[in-house]
Amino acid sequence: MSELRKDPLTNRWVIISQKRSARPSDFRVDSIHKEHSFCPFCEGHEDKTPNEIMAVRTQEAEANNSGWSVRVIPNKFPVMESEHELQRYGIGMYDAMSGTGAHEVIIEHPQHKMNIADFEPEQIHRVFKVIKARITDLYKDERLRSAIAFKNYGIAAGASMSHSHSQIIALPVVPRNLKVELEAAMSHYKYKERCIFCDVIKQELITRERIVSENDQYLSFAPFASRFPFELTVIPKTHSYSYIKTDDASLYNLALMLKDVLTRLKVALNDPAYNIILHTAPNTTKRPGNPSYWSSIEFDYHWYLEIMPRLTKVAGFEWGTGFYINPTPPEEAASFLRDYDKYMVMDHK
Ligand SMILES: [Zn+2]
Ligand SMILES: [Zn+2]
Repeated sequence: MSELRKDPLTNRWVIISQKRSARPSDFRVDSIHKEHSFCPFCEGHEDKTPNEIMAVRTQEAEANNSGWSVRVIPNKFPVMESEHELQRYGIGMYDAMSGTGAHEVIIEHPQHKMNIADFEPEQIHRVFKVIKARITDLYKDERLRSAIAFKNYGIAAGASMSHSHSQIIALPVVPRNLKVELEAAMSHYKYKERCIFCDVIKQELITRERIVSENDQYLSFAPFASRFPFELTVIPKTHSYSYIKTDDASLYNLALMLKDVLTRLKVALNDPAYNIILHTAPNTTKRPGNPSYWSSIEFDYHWYLEIMPRLTKVAGFEWGTGFYINPTPPEEAASFLRDYDKYMVMDHK
């Protein structure tokens, strides 16, 4: 029997199709990376990239030299640029604006490593601290209303470079998906005076059937209305509206949690392509137009990481309706990932 499930935040419907129930072995594919003969992201090739914005140095040196552990550069083919003056205009009945923003690449390791699951937790921690520093800095520019940090791993997830990296795109607007979340979170808060994400965490901790793993500060689970097989949420267990307000000790626990979860995916699904998206508060700097707009965001929004293995393709029904058909119930996905070591033993018999 299939079941229709509604995501409590976005009100998006998902069809959990148990008849088509797919096990991890159905998805196991050979991970495919695009390999280039020359990698400009590797240490020693700093002169082959645009000049760095910042770097975590391991030895004293001028910028754009070897001796770093994490390095941030402008994207060579930026979709947004900060040099443009911000302009809004109409084209007949249509609205448009200039592509004012920023597009940065975070090179996550000096060596040619591909999957962040294979990093030491200390290195993942450095990456998280750099992302926090970059978003903090970008939010000083009042024109930039939001910054989206994301990662594409594997060709199926849109990665054009196999060397482990993330990107940050800062925009002069709040993108639709975030806006839908912000408005839903605000209206839940107005009605119940509680954070909807905290409510979801509480519920997941009661049933535990969708939980994958947990540490002192973070929880990972397969969302009730997962759109895709093995979709995961990693979220701080105590309320926190903005990633950039997270202290460094907590980011270390986040690094441990991310490594744990990505290792489970790697083992259970044979190193699949995936996307990771950071959902966090937009730039809440007050602006003249609507000064009270962010008055409750500190209480109503809750940042998290969305992890999306790219195992299935979106087809006509999904495009046309905004519904999703998910052949793997999140309870089954979570159970496989909880027992991933056991599963690995079974698989090799
Ligand atoms: Zn490389
Ligand atoms: Zn919360």
